[in-house]
Amino acid sequence: MSEELNPFKIAQQQLDEAAKLLKLDPATHALLREPMREFHVSFPVRMDDGTVKVFKGFRVQYNDARGPTKGGIRFHPEETIDTVRALAAWMTWKTAVVDIPLGGGKGGVICNPKEMSPRELERVSRGYIRALGHYIGPETDVPAPDVYTNPQIMAWMMDEYSIITGHNVPGVITGKPIPLGGSAGRGDATARGGMYCIREAAKVLGIDLSQATVAIQGYGNAGQFAHKLVTEIFGAKVVAVSDSKGGIYAPQGLDFEAVSAHKRATGSVQGFPGAENITNEQLLELDVVLLIPAALENQIGAWNAANIKAKIVAELANGPTTPDADEILYKNGVFVIPDFLCNAGGVTVSYFEQVQNAYDYYWTAEEVYDRLDKKMTAAFHAVHAMAQKYKVHNRTAAYLVAVSRVAEACKLRGWV
Ligand code: NAD
Repeated sequence: MSEELNPFKIAQQQLDEAAKLLKLDPATHALLREPMREFHVSFPVRMDDGTVKVFKGFRVQYNDARGPTKGGIRFHPEETIDTVRALAAWMTWKTAVVDIPLGGGKGGVICNPKEMSPRELERVSRGYIRALGHYIGPETDVPAPDVYTNPQIMAWMMDEYSIITGHNVPGVITGKPIPLGGSAGRGDATARGGMYCIREAAKVLGIDLSQATVAIQGYGNAGQFAHKLVTEIFGAKVVAVSDSKGGIYAPQGLDFEAVSAHKRATGSVQGFPGAENITNEQLLELDVVLLIPAALENQIGAWNAANIKAKIVAELANGPTTPDADEILYKNGVFVIPDFLCNAGGVTVSYFEQVQNAYDYYWTAEEVYDRLDKKMTAAFHAVHAMAQKYKVHNRTAAYLVAVSRVAEACKLRGWV
């Protein structure tokens, strides 16, 4: 396979394309190609059996021209600095495309949460914040949940940071549980933001979503809520879902509550009564109207892009499609809602959470949804208009919108 699969190289390649079209000056282009700051930490954690294990973690603050850097923390056994760099770059474009006053960052710890007890997980979470506490904060860099991290982990991290600083600092991290300053509507925000984009895409394409079939790859925060909301909001029929162990397919449709309960009970969606077990590869190539990648990077590449039959690919995952695949999908008329637009609902509600923490005054879920809808709808149409104007696919169009906003901020600050 000759295709480039290093996520950071892909992120740079995508930026280069936008820089060329925008005729970006060389200094701004060079600045936006690399992270402004990154931290590599090693920290000791006492395990339940009394031994001490040293964990490696990263935090990348990619660009803060538009505001404090913002981005999730992943706990993953295969975490690499280049994945974190790519995700931090995508966060920079994401906050810009939805036009919120933040930059882009990302963090990660190389660890396998599935092999840790809750107490070990807590000690790893606190250890990571002790290692990085002096370099994050509400006005510098604000983490959030991502793959294999959750509101409980955010609560431990916020508590650890508050211990370090000597006072309560809810605004240091978002995605917190509601009793600790979390926002209503944060739990399903990523999927819900994606739904607003899907609704607008269907309008543009003249697709009736109430008759649509849907396949979802990944059954965590993004994927499960996508299953729930695509049914609840549009009345669409989810015929396939998957997780890291594999997928299931049922042409008659899969009930959200029943599949979630099955996953909770057995640890996987596979083996769901009345459904056929399929592979993740098969799921991607199903003949559905809407395909939602909601797992990891590099799922649609040159090797399978020509077999994608969906009319809309709504990327809730970050980086699921390679640049070669983008070209193939575009040529085949597949409408891709690119990751940093489609999944920007999470960071948008995280931003709302920061605003509420700063005011110490909290909104209702309806207020959150209404504000989120406005942000996502405006972002979708900004990208769609750019795609029409430059005759490029939606990902490049999203880059054009985002990169020009970040470049303008760099220029106004006098950096370039
Ligand atoms: P999560 O940890 O809640 O769930 C991840 C899911 O992916 C799990 O169901 C896991 O089984 C599945 N998975 C892992 N490897 C897989 C594989 N090889 N094939 C199929 N499924 C696999 O994570 P999440 O928060 O739902 O994140 C999923 C994606 O969405 C990531 O790309 C993440 O960066 C992106 N995202 C999440 C948020 C958020 O707010 N949670 C926001 C923006 C983007």
